[in-house]
Amino acid sequence: MVLAYIGLGSNLSDKVAGQILDSKSQLEQALSSLSEHPQVNILKLSNFYQTPAIGPGQQPDYINGAAMLETDLSPLALLDLLQAIENQQGRVRTIRWGARTLDLDILLYDQLTEDSERLTIPHPRMHEREFVLAPMADIAADLCLPTGENISELLANCSMQGIVKL
Ligand code: ATP
Ligand code: MG
Ligand code: MG
Repeated sequence: MVLAYIGLGSNLSDKVAGQILDSKSQLEQALSSLSEHPQVNILKLSNFYQTPAIGPGQQPDYINGAAMLETDLSPLALLDLLQAIENQQGRVRTIRWGARTLDLDILLYDQLTEDSERLTIPHPRMHEREFVLAPMADIAADLCLPTGENISELLANCSMQGIVKL
């Protein structure tokens, strides 16, 4: 079993099984799908945060969160699962960093460091993103990345401008 941390984000509503889900419900739906998987156990969930979009053009604000999972899925099998849930919830990949119904990223997988075609762990931009570090600090403030950097210290270096805890 390993401990993995995932980042969740959404800034678009979508119709899932005939129901319109707003961004917060998209995250809740994703967590419910994850918890149904026999090889995934959700141990901790952060608060949700409303955060300004960083992608190109005008985009709605995001809702972001983070979760700590216990799993025996390999990193790639976990990525497959996260992408299947994204697709199930209407994720359409057009422009990079465009608005999306759901983004599920692997932030950390124990202390593994990996850089392959499909997967970079730790997530290569997590250390500079307040919308990742703020929810991570809720569930793992004292955790260190494989680089030795600590979540709360990294967060202290970020501007929390425009971020609202829900
Ligand atoms: P960002 O990576 O800046 O958060 P994004 O989440 O919008 O951007 P996606 O479109 O969701 O990017 O994913 C693009 C590709 O990133 C995926 O197809 C996946 O193979 C790859 N990827 C690499 N490392 C990771 C990771 N740690 N978690 C999720 N996807 C990853
Ligand atoms: Mg992402
Ligand atoms: Mg992603």
